[in-house]
Amino acid sequence: MNLEGRTALITGASSGIGRTMALTFAEAGADIIINYIGPARDAEEVADKVRAMGRRALVLETDVSDTEAVAAMVEKAAKEMGHIDILVNNAGITRDGLLLRMKESDWDAVLAINLKGVFNCTKAVLKYMMKQRYGRIISISSVVGVNGNAGQTNYAAAKAGIIGFTKSVAKEAASRGITANAIAPGFVKTNMTAVLPEKTVAAMLAAIPLGRLGETEDIAKAALFLASDAASYITGQVLHVDGGMVM
Ligand code: NAP
Repeated sequence: MNLEGRTALITGASSGIGRTMALTFAEAGADIIINYIGPARDAEEVADKVRAMGRRALVLETDVSDTEAVAAMVEKAAKEMGHIDILVNNAGITRDGLLLRMKESDWDAVLAINLKGVFNCTKAVLKYMMKQRYGRIISISSVVGVNGNAGQTNYAAAKAGIIGFTKSVAKEAASRGITANAIAPGFVKTNMTAVLPEKTVAAMLAAIPLGRLGETEDIAKAALFLASDAASYITGQVLHVDGGMVM
């Protein structure tokens, strides 16, 4: 699948799924805008790899939950790269806990980054996509946003919110050649899941018909498909990449 001539903005692109998506898209020919928060050296390492493939890379540190900072980031990215054709809303966090014990700050943090961050980035990028009459918006939801999960009311609410948001953006932007889709990963091996107790991982594994945990490449390949011209007639969908957890 070819992304030559396209520029992709990927949020949270310095680790995990976002990092693999940045490298996969670059391999397919795209220039990459690497949004990150946290250690700059991880983002720079991704940028070095992108450049080694002969693609352009721009590294921008921005908290996706900060509306003004996101608008400034997108303006800078559009100016430097000339255009933004693909947005992947990937940045996300967890602050798990049973509802009765969940702190308001944990609810607010997850909603701010995982859902308002998607609003901020999509709104800022949409302006440019509308003008160029082309765009691909891919937002990373979760199996938890579809099925729910004890201990993750905040995360499930945000990830379910992404699905409703995606379908609405798809309807608003379709006439301008812009598609909006969500990916709902199951259980993927990253920093996010590395902190889970062995017992939880074993229980998850037992619920995966394909019998293995997901790799970041599984999600990146699905995102590459949705970002490519092969998916130009697909919008408002949730692609489940979860080894069969949700059917
Ligand atoms: P990850 O390695 O922790 O990646 C999340 C990325 O988001 C990190 O690079 C993180 O940066 C960044 N980030 C966090 N807060 C941010 C903010 N305010 N602004 C910008 N970036 C921010 O975990 P992952 O598993 O790859 O997660 C990627 C996406 O997949 C998330 O949306 C997650 O909810 C979703 N997902 C993951 C799984 C799974 O099983 N792993 C399943 C379903 C969905 P720092 O590391 O510097 O904080």
